[in-house]
Amino acid sequence: MSGPLEKRSWAEPFKIKSVELLRTTTRAERDEIIGQAGYNTFLIRSRDVYIDLLTDSGTSAMSDRQWAGMMLGDEAYAGSENYYSLEAAVREHYGYRYLVPTHQGRGAENILSQLLIKQGDFVPGNMYFTTTRLHQERAGGTFVDVIVEEAHDPTSEHPFKGDVDIAKLDRLVREVGADRIPYISLEANVNMAGGQPFSMANLKELHAYCKLHRIAIMLDGTRAIENAYFIKERERGYQDKSVKRILREMCDLTDGATVSAKKDLLVNIGGFLALNDEELFRRAQNLSVIYEGLHTYGGLAGRDMEAMAQGLREAVMESHQAARIGQVRYLGEKLDAAGIPIVKPIGSHGVFIDAAAFLPHVDRDQYPAQALAAAIYVEAGVRAMERGNVSAGRDPNTGKNRRPNLELVRLTVPRRVYTQAHMDVVAEAIVRVYAERDRIGGLRMTYEPEYLRFFQARFEPMEKRRPA
Ligand SMILES: *Cc1c(COP(=O)(O)O)cnc(C)c1O
Repeated sequence: MSGPLEKRSWAEPFKIKSVELLRTTTRAERDEIIGQAGYNTFLIRSRDVYIDLLTDSGTSAMSDRQWAGMMLGDEAYAGSENYYSLEAAVREHYGYRYLVPTHQGRGAENILSQLLIKQGDFVPGNMYFTTTRLHQERAGGTFVDVIVEEAHDPTSEHPFKGDVDIAKLDRLVREVGADRIPYISLEANVNMAGGQPFSMANLKELHAYCKLHRIAIMLDGTRAIENAYFIKERERGYQDKSVKRILREMCDLTDGATVSAKKDLLVNIGGFLALNDEELFRRAQNLSVIYEGLHTYGGLAGRDMEAMAQGLREAVMESHQAARIGQVRYLGEKLDAAGIPIVKPIGSHGVFIDAAAFLPHVDRDQYPAQALAAAIYVEAGVRAMERGNVSAGRDPNTGKNRRPNLELVRLTVPRRVYTQAHMDVVAEAIVRVYAERDRIGGLRMTYEPEYLRFFQARFEPMEKRRPA
């Protein structure tokens, strides 16, 4: 490995112009707060959180140039100048011909799913993402996991755990026929696997396979730029290529993309669907007016689109990715050194704690990751989130908990928001929780919403905690 990550003293490629003061709470207050929140960190008020590692979605700090771009907002209902600015940036950096802006990633997923999936279709993917799979299912499709087996093993150090297992895909094609597979849903830097990239070699192989069987490749490009950075770092032949070039090479092997701009693109809201096929694009524009808004704003203000265009130009900078991924790695290495079980290799957007190994005494149906996220909050006011049995939900056919192999707590790092000192505080808190892990018990779900239950479900302890 080369570059700034190898040195111990790297620094952020920015200086701070404006700050937001943090508020602290006492442990007694947090004990009360977590109970009121039904042991779900999504239901805690932000003012009661000290360091917020719930998600990297929409939580990044914008640059002075992005804020300046907000002032350039052309708030016209139709034909906003900022739409054309974003379209130009997307064409330059991703390379897709056509752009449909959406209010966020799931808006694009809804349109894409409705356009391409028919009742009874199958949609293979390199592991599921919560909103992506739900839109596929609601459009009548069945999601089929075709990620490499290593992705389901938190201890595997495979450098490209986001790769597609072409043999698994081929098995599905033989079983149901390629005509019932409208596209493969290919996620960059697979979130649910711990922020794990696919390799360009795998994408090339997938491209050749899909071309032969006339199956489209639709990229979930939400973290495609972070994936490109990993390719540069880890894949032979890419060390001397720029992240920009790798991103283009990646997108050129796909037919379109859904993107949540709230991640890679450094904005607080926004997303888009990008396509190369003109006919499909026209139909997507038409669906946009039902769900998002006119096709030149898609649920966004003009200023949001301008901030997104500038965010894209900053996101493809190597110095940005080196610091962003470097900060996550800094936290992960601290936890690893302290013996905390985490998913390896350390991903791009957060450190994923293996809650099943952390709390082996808690049954999977008593939600160990949910319980651990709650305990971390009570310990230090640090907000993490569950990525395990609660997030996976129930199988629509059997109604049973899916009980995924990965039972994780995600410490997600917002971009350009926290310092290394914050990461130290987080690591110290987790180490303290680990020392007392025997005292953490399981949870029972007391309220279960129908869709994406992890956002709004409520829990209570199986038994009251023993007094300290
Ligand atoms: C966040 C996310 C989405 C959904 O995007 P939203 O902007 O939250 O609607 C889709 N795919 C991946 C991989 C994500 O991380």
